[in-house]
Amino acid sequence: MNVYDSARMADILSPLGYSLTSTPDQADMAILNTCHIREKASEKTFSELGRLRNTRRKKEAAGGGDMLIAVAGCVAQAEGAEIIKRAPYVSMVFGPQSYHKLPEMLAEVSRGSGKVLDTDFPVEPKFDFLPADAIDKNLSAFLTVQEGCDKFCAFCVVPYTRGAEFSRSTPEIIDEAKRMIDAGTREITLLGQNVNAYHGLDGDGTSRNLTDLIYKLSEIAGLERLRYMTSHPLEMTEDLCQAHRDVDVLMPYLHLPVQAGSDKILEAMNRRHTGDQYRGIIEKLRSYRPDLALSGDFIVGFPGETEQDFEDTMQLIRDVKYSQAYSFKYSPRPGTPAAALEGQMVPEDVKTERLARLQALLNEQQIEFNRSFEGKTMPVLLERAGKREGQLIGRSPYMQSVYVQSPPHRIGRIAEVTIDEGNANSLRGILKSSSTENAA
Ligand code: SAH
Ligand code: SF4
Repeated sequence: MNVYDSARMADILSPLGYSLTSTPDQADMAILNTCHIREKASEKTFSELGRLRNTRRKKEAAGGGDMLIAVAGCVAQAEGAEIIKRAPYVSMVFGPQSYHKLPEMLAEVSRGSGKVLDTDFPVEPKFDFLPADAIDKNLSAFLTVQEGCDKFCAFCVVPYTRGAEFSRSTPEIIDEAKRMIDAGTREITLLGQNVNAYHGLDGDGTSRNLTDLIYKLSEIAGLERLRYMTSHPLEMTEDLCQAHRDVDVLMPYLHLPVQAGSDKILEAMNRRHTGDQYRGIIEKLRSYRPDLALSGDFIVGFPGETEQDFEDTMQLIRDVKYSQAYSFKYSPRPGTPAAALEGQMVPEDVKTERLARLQALLNEQQIEFNRSFEGKTMPVLLERAGKREGQLIGRSPYMQSVYVQSPPHRIGRIAEVTIDEGNANSLRGILKSSSTENAA
């Protein structure tokens, strides 16, 4: 979502004469768009800011003019005043819900009225103020449909930094999708912190859910592939599971975080489901779409996690079998309920060791999944040139990166590719036509 937001900031600034630079040392303005989800992510803000200050000094010394430094995103939202105090060279600090006001903020700074700190949650959503051409124009592009979260998992800052759940209206999303497709997009990923909690209004005032939205989007000519992320198990409704069987543009890949496998930990996390309920959802999804690839998020070392609780997570992973996954050591976040469980913190070395075991298992599953495609043919959306001569990089229906030997004019096409090698993080293959030619 930060990638999406950063691109929208560039869109907003373009009528003011700004364009993207490839390196910060050419920039008249640098916006650091930040993440607050774990401590490491937020610490990076201050080290990156120090680096930007050095870049600015060098640029000024070389006669390259001034550089305005701004901080956006969730660290800005949570620690705005602290940033201005610790990094006085920063001119603007604004949260994820107010970046549409960038032109006004810039005007304020250039008038010399001091620093701008805007961490409000405005009543009018920012989407109403974005210019019509503020869309992702990539072949595989993002579209934010929902933001914020009301779930309040005990470890998570999102409800505090991104704010309450908000869904954009269905016509607004359809319209944005059409403009994206007209601009060349072939694959759309619907974004939301809780995307399957989507409940936007239709033109006639009816409330629509994510399944309704998926059906409507699937009717747009030119949309070849549709995905959505991130979903919460509680909102994996029957109709949404069935959409994975019935909607052909919906890709057979789902990111459905479970975080942990122990019911005790799931309850302490306030996830509001058990390990078996999650297994049940996966079983149902696979009954509708047997080849569905699954991805997840895992937290190890949540306060109070015993070896047995951790083993429950490992067992759940063995039962589900993931095609890929993200895993993290628990990181206490200020203001969240879990951060107050001080007496129950799991020692750092235990977290490190458990994470290593968990990642080894996930890697094993990922390699096994990738190898299972060797010798098979599948449609790959060819997205960009690879580093090697004559190589293109594309995306499989199951979200794998696929390296293909192909002439560059095929970028943008969906090509049938025969996989000859499944590796840990990617697949290698050849175009089906050329493999037939080779065979002939
Ligand atoms: N809305 C999504 C996740 C959003 S945050 C969901 O409900 O699953 C992305 C991931 O970061 C989470 O799934 C979780 O695994 C991880 N995460 C969030 N807070 C964390 C924390 N305090 N420590 C470690 N990992 C965390
Ligand atoms: Fe955070 Fe996701 Fe839980 Fe919301 S549902 S609080 S975003 S982990």
